[in-house]
Amino acid sequence: MTTKLLCTLIPPSEVLAALDADTGELHDDTGDYRPSDLDPEAHDTEESDEDAYRRLTQKAEANAKRRGQLKRPTLADRYVRDPSARAAVIKRCKNRCESPECAGHPTERTTAGLPILQVDHVRDLAKGGPDVPWNMIALCPNCHALKTYGENKEKLRRLLATTARCLHAEKLL
Ligand SMILES: [Zn+2]
Repeated sequence: MTTKLLCTLIPPSEVLAALDADTGELHDDTGDYRPSDLDPEAHDTEESDEDAYRRLTQKAEANAKRRGQLKRPTLADRYVRDPSARAAVIKRCKNRCESPECAGHPTERTTAGLPILQVDHVRDLAKGGPDVPWNMIALCPNCHALKTYGENKEKLRRLLATTARCLHAEKLL
């Protein structure tokens, strides 16, 4: 294994410190689509998908803004994932991979009956990307791997950044 490859496998020290400080609320981007990602506040069965998406987005943006305004955000503040943001993306994606270049979403479900999807930050939180739906995208395992390891990952990341913003805007029309 080359030194260069080793370096890419070791998270920055601040990420390690954040994980050490984790109180159980931290999640990474590679987490599977879990039952807990479903909207925990969806009490109103009359609420449309669009209204729910708008509500979750507003909550996620308010939380992101509040965290950004903290004078000295703790490491956990910087890396904790907002469940509202994830729930909004899951609602938006309608159980499908959102990559326009998806070569095929697995149709098999998890043992819990959920689609096999991963909610990813297009621009990583660790690099200052906001934890809001327009910076997030639901990906199948293949597309997630291409975005993470593919030789064309930068090109794909740019495409996904545009796609996430478009899907977000369409949902709020
Ligand atoms: Zn895909």
